[in-house]
Amino acid sequence: MFYTSTRDNSIKLTASEAVLKGLSDDGGLFVPSEIPSLSKSLKEISEMDYKETAYTVMKDFLFDYTEEELRSCIDKAYDAKFDTEEIAPLVEAEGVYYLELFHGKTIAFKDMALSILPHLLTTAARKNKSDKEIVILTATSGDTGKAALAGFAGVPGTRIIVFYPKGGVSKVQELQMVTQKESNTKVIGVKGNFDDCQSKVKELFNDSALKEQMAAAGFQFSSANSINIGRLVPQIAYYVYAYGKLLKEGRITDGEKINICVPTGNFGNILAAFYAKNMGLPVNKLICASNDNKVLFDFFKEGVYDKNREFILTDSPSMDILISSNLERLIYLCTGCDDKANKSLMEHLKTDGVYSIKESFGKVKDQFVGEYADWADSSAKIKSLYEKTGYVIDTHTAVAAASYDKYVKATGDTTKTVIASTASPFKFARSVMKAIDPVYAKEDDFKLIDILSKTANVEIPAAINEIRTSPVVHDTVVEISDMKKAVMDNIGI
Ligand SMILES: *Cc1c(COP(=O)(O)O)cnc(C)c1O
Repeated sequence: MFYTSTRDNSIKLTASEAVLKGLSDDGGLFVPSEIPSLSKSLKEISEMDYKETAYTVMKDFLFDYTEEELRSCIDKAYDAKFDTEEIAPLVEAEGVYYLELFHGKTIAFKDMALSILPHLLTTAARKNKSDKEIVILTATSGDTGKAALAGFAGVPGTRIIVFYPKGGVSKVQELQMVTQKESNTKVIGVKGNFDDCQSKVKELFNDSALKEQMAAAGFQFSSANSINIGRLVPQIAYYVYAYGKLLKEGRITDGEKINICVPTGNFGNILAAFYAKNMGLPVNKLICASNDNKVLFDFFKEGVYDKNREFILTDSPSMDILISSNLERLIYLCTGCDDKANKSLMEHLKTDGVYSIKESFGKVKDQFVGEYADWADSSAKIKSLYEKTGYVIDTHTAVAAASYDKYVKATGDTTKTVIASTASPFKFARSVMKAIDPVYAKEDDFKLIDILSKTANVEIPAAINEIRTSPVVHDTVVEISDMKKAVMDNIGI
């Protein structure tokens, strides 16, 4: 097994080299040459705790990490930073299983991968005898930024620069980022949307002159975005873990298929579920849920990806994305791992904003279903679920839950279903409380957090209490065209 690029099959890297590089020089994403099969039976997995499951899943992808190295990374990641020993609890409501992925430090699912990525990356640097300081460049739609900052803050040999769309994230998301104190962190607002931030960051990764200048000064870029395979692999683990839990609790029988429904933006989280399915996890449908930016919903209808449309700011900002980077890994598979064909499709996306894989779509179409829910659907879902069960979900999870309801209505499918619950409702208290009752719209954000705590009967997470009093330390805002200069200024070249 090795890692290659979706745009150049002549590339052959070890897992640790792929983690360290983040993105291939040709602009492609690293993909494993094959998807390994689960090395343990479902019955055995059902007896494992989170860390053991993570080890079982990750070791076959990160094949050149020693057992000691990988276990040490896992131990450092999934510890008391999480507010529950289970790490990813399953909560049943209305017969559906919500996989709560938000019990980490920054209360969004990004913590699941970003609490381990810094360890995977520094281990990779050691293994490959790199003596350069690692500069993590990250574009965020709101949650990755803080999770990456929390993961890399104070990690020796690294510094991190986060770009976020100014005005395109929630108040809590912004405060979480701009109050990050450690000196190896930098947070910069950009006058543009998430796609602008992400495209520019990718461009900087591929800027060979900049890379040479950096190397001469002792620096090397890497990525904390889900384009890094070190983000994707840890995410596979929780789907396998969720299956094991359902089996252990007798909710499903050994080998019974489940559906997995994921609120989707950059296509990282659901791609991890796809990898889990293709490792042999019994999965019926992968339901890809979009908000009003429903480019993926349209894509799954007939295989045409068309980003030429209005970018809509929604109440689920972490899904406000029109260029879903990780989809490239799926497209590459659709083309039969044809690097040239994939490269040409991605060039079409860049120049015309559209490509079509109609001819080869069959290969993946049967595994996925695209659905979407607008604010009317998802806010109604937050309200009705709360009123019927007392359970409060966040706005992203609500997009998935409302999309799932539409799917069931259309198909009558009774397969047991896991919904990825990607953020704590406290992160989006304004929108959540507004959904439950419009009278709350006039309250201030922190007041709403107190009200939410009483409404949901859930304690306010530490991540929220922290930002109430922390001073703002990052206030830089730049034009898209000045992002490169901002990076160079930060590292002093
Ligand atoms: C990032 C994010 C998503 C989208 O996940 P992708 O892996 O980008 O598809 C959904 N919900 C929340 C809360 C997120 O932070």
